[in-house]
Amino acid sequence: RPVIAGNWKMHKTVAEARELSLRILDGARDVFPRIGLFPPALSLPAVVEEVRRVAGNLSDEVLLGAQNLYPADEGAFTGEISAPMIRAAGGNAVIVGHSERRQIFGETSDFVGLKVEAAIHGGLVPIFCVGETLDEREDGRTTAVVGDQLARGLTRIERPDDLARVIIAYEPVWAIGTGRTASPDQAQEVHAYIREELGKRFAALGGDPPRRDEVLILYGGSVKPANAADLLSQPDVDGALVGGASLDADSFLGICRACPAEG
Ligand code: PEP
Repeated sequence: RPVIAGNWKMHKTVAEARELSLRILDGARDVFPRIGLFPPALSLPAVVEEVRRVAGNLSDEVLLGAQNLYPADEGAFTGEISAPMIRAAGGNAVIVGHSERRQIFGETSDFVGLKVEAAIHGGLVPIFCVGETLDEREDGRTTAVVGDQLARGLTRIERPDDLARVIIAYEPVWAIGTGRTASPDQAQEVHAYIREELGKRFAALGGDPPRRDEVLILYGGSVKPANAADLLSQPDVDGALVGGASLDADSFLGICRACPAEG
């Protein structure tokens, strides 16, 4: 099943997050994709509460979590949160390696690799973001950059089963929050490359090549209801990580409804 996940970034107070999650959950009853909600960490318990109230037994179906974690269970890391804390707050997932973390907070790909490992060992599904800048694309280095981010980000994952739990988000940096979207062909080309690289990684770990539905690769970068259907109908695009358009229930649900119900 495809995934449409909302990264709310540093938006929404606790009360606002509760209201947005309720509006999304109300409208999401009849949508095909699995939804994901990534509010600011302070609002996660409130969103978890709403999901459990509305979705009941199905609440595990919703990917719910934080936008970042620190790769240690606890310690003197002022301002950070850990995988066990996210789990204890009711989260089952976490975004790691978002380009804003890499660019604004200086996170390296090796550090992101520690976070992917911490998420897996902490029982969370990592949504692991990769993507090139505009300069890198124009220099013809897109696959080299994305390949390096993938290799470093996944280097500590040593079991095929763990690798299958990682969700990759391809987010070209030039398309994030800019209103400029990768064309469906551009997205498909990089997604196919990522799938191929993941296949090699599975083989290197002694696993069978992943089944088509075993590894999810989401696209992110200015996805909106108007462009979602074209992007999501590409064969290697398994869903979307949505920033700006996830802050409004109607536009987030519009993207969910644009998601093809098969293949
Ligand atoms: C994101 O930040 O993950 C993102 C894709 O943002 P936007 O949809 O606003 O481009």
